[in-house]
Amino acid sequence: MSRVLVIGCGGVASVAIQKCCQVSDVFTELCIASRTKSKCDALAEKLKGKTATKVTTAQVDADQVDQVIALIKSYKPDLVMNIALPYQDLTIMDACLACGVNYMDTANYEPEDTDDPEWRAIYEKRCKEEGFSAYFDYSWQWAYKEKFEKAGLTALLGCGFDPGVTQAYCAYAQKHEFDTIDTIDILDCNGGDHGYAFATNFNPEVNLREVSAPGSYWENGHWVEIPAMSIKREYDFDQVGEKDMYLLHHEEIESLAKNIPGVKRIRFFMTFGQSYLDHMRCLEDVGMLSTTPINFEGYEIVPIKFLKALLPDPASLGPRTKGKTNIGCIFTGKKDGKDKTYYIYNVCDHQACYREVGSQAISYTTGVPAMCGALMLLTGKWTTPGVHTVEEFDPDPFLDALDKHGLPRSESHDPALVK
Ligand code: NDP
Repeated sequence: MSRVLVIGCGGVASVAIQKCCQVSDVFTELCIASRTKSKCDALAEKLKGKTATKVTTAQVDADQVDQVIALIKSYKPDLVMNIALPYQDLTIMDACLACGVNYMDTANYEPEDTDDPEWRAIYEKRCKEEGFSAYFDYSWQWAYKEKFEKAGLTALLGCGFDPGVTQAYCAYAQKHEFDTIDTIDILDCNGGDHGYAFATNFNPEVNLREVSAPGSYWENGHWVEIPAMSIKREYDFDQVGEKDMYLLHHEEIESLAKNIPGVKRIRFFMTFGQSYLDHMRCLEDVGMLSTTPINFEGYEIVPIKFLKALLPDPASLGPRTKGKTNIGCIFTGKKDGKDKTYYIYNVCDHQACYREVGSQAISYTTGVPAMCGALMLLTGKWTTPGVHTVEEFDPDPFLDALDKHGLPRSESHDPALVK
């Protein structure tokens, strides 16, 4: 029996909301609130008669703390699920603290305006001290740890697939398979084909920023940064086949380096097709990925926002996308004094997702873990106050929930390793 406020109604939120509505005994009441209320209304309409969850909608600009506070005060939720954009993480966390409500999200904070001098000064200091230059990092949200602890509230960060499930896989390997983990390779393969020469599978702005940034990995206690897309490997993925994959910086590496004791190396690889890479390089070369506003015939335009308006809406890729995703983690380490390897992963079919909830597997593999994370918080399985990432909690009930709600795990005790 709980009331949940979901902020955001894009590709990921639509899946998470539909999945919450499949578990009506826990999610008894749910308010969908977003910047564009008509999208919330359309989803509420689609759910009518198909769920016992009482669904309402609201308009909110989550960049404005006061608006979020007013909405929380009027709706009185037990949990706020932030499935808007990473730009709203801090304002929504502030509002949750002000109102005494638990919080969760699917991606760590980054600012919308990376030219803001105040943010930039802190960012540049962090780049020097930490050794990686991604715009996003956990420091902004970890800074809320004491405040959440003191308030007796829980903030669950990054509960999608990666970050999210990948960290639960690490916690599971640590708990059940290894005494010590030496290396972790996180492999994110999208074997889906949407038929467009170029489109992004989730929010284009967030996606293109992530992919065009330098790559980095954690090795022997520090970050190693490399030029974007400069480390390439091939891997033969179960049910997908052989794919090229590239080493990227990814947010869960930062928290896993802290929370998996003794880990020597953590890398993250994502698969990309040649057409995607060619388009991205070209768009970057001509300045279309820039977040700095330019003046065009009297209008101020942010190039990447303009590009977003031209690209297919990720939510529209569902009916066109065929093929499967395969996302998981390969571990090396020791158990009972012996060397061992272990691979745990999920394979998800784009068309099966579309048939179930009307969206492709990228939104599905993020939205289902968001619902399962909320389930852990609402049913008292994950209760530690403070600000936490997924690997800090017991992975067992979460992975059981994923098995049950659409993202079952597969495993191998003799996987091919990535060189
Ligand atoms: P979309 O762009 O499809 O949706 C974003 C939603 O947030 C839209 O409904 C948008 O409203 C709303 N929104 C944006 N700004 C505001 C605001 N100021 N106030 C209120 N609502 C706002 O994004 P996705 O669904 O693809 O991604 C959602 C989140 O999931 C992102 O943070 C993304 O980084 C993360 N993600 C995480 C993954 C993981 O595995 N952990 C994988 C993929 C995504 P409007 O309709 O008005 O634009």
